[in-house]
Amino acid sequence: MTTVLFLGLGHMGGPMAANLAAAGHRVLGFDLVPAALEAARAAGVEVVSDTAVAAAEADVVLTMLPNGRLVLDVYRGDDGAPGLLAAARPGTVFLDCSTIEVAQAREAAQAAEAAGMRAADAPVSGGQVGAEAGTLAFMVGASEEVFEEIRPLLEVMGRRIVHCGGPGLGQAAKVCNNMVLGISQIAVAEAFVLGERLGLDHQALYDVMSEASGQCWALTTNCPVPGPVPTSPANRDYAPGFAGALMHKDLTLALHALDDQGVQGGLGRAAQEIYERYAAGDGASRDFSGIVETLRAAGKDA
Ligand code: NAD
Repeated sequence: MTTVLFLGLGHMGGPMAANLAAAGHRVLGFDLVPAALEAARAAGVEVVSDTAVAAAEADVVLTMLPNGRLVLDVYRGDDGAPGLLAAARPGTVFLDCSTIEVAQAREAAQAAEAAGMRAADAPVSGGQVGAEAGTLAFMVGASEEVFEEIRPLLEVMGRRIVHCGGPGLGQAAKVCNNMVLGISQIAVAEAFVLGERLGLDHQALYDVMSEASGQCWALTTNCPVPGPVPTSPANRDYAPGFAGALMHKDLTLALHALDDQGVQGGLGRAAQEIYERYAAGDGASRDFSGIVETLRAAGKDA
């Protein structure tokens, strides 16, 4: 049994913490939102109010927070308040599963190691459905030793666990994958809009592309038009799924990584701009495949 202090019991963290508790681990949970705490308590999580005391009891401090600033604040403290790195026992594993900037993940790992702790980043894909079912994919950045130590925990919460390299490289893999996802969802949507103009039936285009070189997840799972894939968000008026706001967030992380590394990344940059516009409107809360409607409307006078 591992004692885990779990911070951030939201859409993803709530069910992840519940799965750890159901598997027999001792899970100490904290969130700023009372409703999240109540749901976690009902799922077997021990709700705590003093995270510093809890950190001193924990083998693993796991964060599942909205952004990297919050992760760094939890680690190092903010506004003069000490962080959890100062409260935990030496050697405690600080495991961040949030999606954050690669540079912030590296900064967090360095801060943890400087404080005598051990660090890992393990961002996820699979969404809330995967979090609830315990079928997330984890992309892990950690030393071999830390990876082997956290693997049993990750296996409770996920199905596919990939060790990508040292600290920060899990986040690097996530940003690369989601850049492809954003670009390919736009590419598939553009193909359907062009196909419509050319008089192609959606199903006919799907039948060709899904068996040809245009085949990809954005087509065969997240098909942006209703019909060909009955479970895709297009069939429920683009209820997410994966919301436009989250795709915009991930592409902005990709943009910053492209800038930091001096990579031209023209398609990633274009996708970030397209999703920025989408997320500025009602696309923020709609599935990101709804971008097909924006693209269709943008060309309607052509
Ligand atoms: P969410 O907003 O539902 O949950 C985040 C939780 O963190 C909230 O309950 C919030 O109250 C809490 N929180 C904020 N500051 C805190 C603090 N200092 N201490 C304790 N709790 C604090 O977000 P989510 O959808 O669960 O996403 C969490 C992370 O997972 C994000 O980084 C996101 O990008 C990533 N992610 C989300 C999805 C998805 O489909 N939702 C998929 C993959 C990755």
